[in-house]
Amino acid sequence: MDIDYAVSLRPMSGIYIHIPFCKKACHYCDFHFSTSLKYADEMVESICKEIKMKKDRISGQVGSIYFGGGTPSILSQAALQKIFDTINHTFSVDTGAEITIETNPDDLTSQKLRELKQLPVNRFSVGVQSFYNEDLIWMNRAHNADEAENCIKRSQDAGFENLTLDLIYGYPLLTDAKWLSNINKAIELAVPHISAYALTVEPKTALAHAIKNKQQIPVSDSQSAAQFVILMEKLLTSGFDHYEISNFAKPDGYAVHNTNYWKGVNYVGIGPSAHGFDGQNRYMNPANNALYMETIESNKLPEVIELLNLNDRFNEYIMTSLRTMWGTDLQKINDEFGKDFLEQTKHNILGLKDKDWLIYDGDKVKLSEQGKLFADHIASELFIVE
Ligand code: SF4
Repeated sequence: MDIDYAVSLRPMSGIYIHIPFCKKACHYCDFHFSTSLKYADEMVESICKEIKMKKDRISGQVGSIYFGGGTPSILSQAALQKIFDTINHTFSVDTGAEITIETNPDDLTSQKLRELKQLPVNRFSVGVQSFYNEDLIWMNRAHNADEAENCIKRSQDAGFENLTLDLIYGYPLLTDAKWLSNINKAIELAVPHISAYALTVEPKTALAHAIKNKQQIPVSDSQSAAQFVILMEKLLTSGFDHYEISNFAKPDGYAVHNTNYWKGVNYVGIGPSAHGFDGQNRYMNPANNALYMETIESNKLPEVIELLNLNDRFNEYIMTSLRTMWGTDLQKINDEFGKDFLEQTKHNILGLKDKDWLIYDGDKVKLSEQGKLFADHIASELFIVE
């Protein structure tokens, strides 16, 4: 299925808020977080202050708010309420705005769900990762398999239907049979959205350290690719649209915030390590809680501006658009980047090693099923380097 983005997903501005706290450090994770909640109250104060300092960044309505991290569900109801109050006093939030909070299964107790019900949150992103205890222990997750399953049912019983699950594939313990079982479990739980990521070994993580010390054997690209194929086949035959390389949704379950990000819609980033985009340039806050809070305390914004030239913007457009089911729009390249970029893109497409990686749909170029296995490589081949 294809949808008309202009009609179905409104490109209003978004807000991303990074909550930099987690209970435990997952062995593969290189996101910015602290396992100490000692300065959580001060952090919330700084986040609220940064929201107010960025009042002029959004002139129209806010169409999506996304609490990421870290583990935002670790914050108390009062802390989250304080952030929402600040957002509402600072910006005009659309009544139909998608408001997502990343949660971990061990946080989603009945009490927590009652608290979240008091807040304007209407979508959970649940970090399930696997329904197998041995996998969760290997990852050093804070939850177990029962919690992974029960928290979804509990959330649905509490009236939270708009859920997305995160799953991971391509790690040493995961056989193809276990992977299929994890996918089937997610389907059985009747969630409208599933995100699935191939495990990547990031530098400076416990996993990278273990591989370096020969305590772990990295998974081969071919095993990971085979599990990606299993994922695509199973979810496509179960009524999900593969609308971005790592994201699958039922027709009414597309993520507004993420889709806007892929479509280049502007969003304001708040909190340590958060990124923002104003339609032209990127803004990045430092991945350092103390530095972030000190700078905000001195009434300055801690962000660094990454000025994107035309080439940078073109390459970003290629990278994000090609990964989506809407594809890369050659007419848009002509209109926004110029005839030279269009000609070079056509030339680069002709130079691809495998002619079956891309398919044409009018002016749109999209990844074929085979091409989806090489998305990042194909995008890099289409980049224009100065
Ligand atoms: S809970 Fe999420 S952010 Fe926190 S360490 Fe684990 S993967 Fe990273």
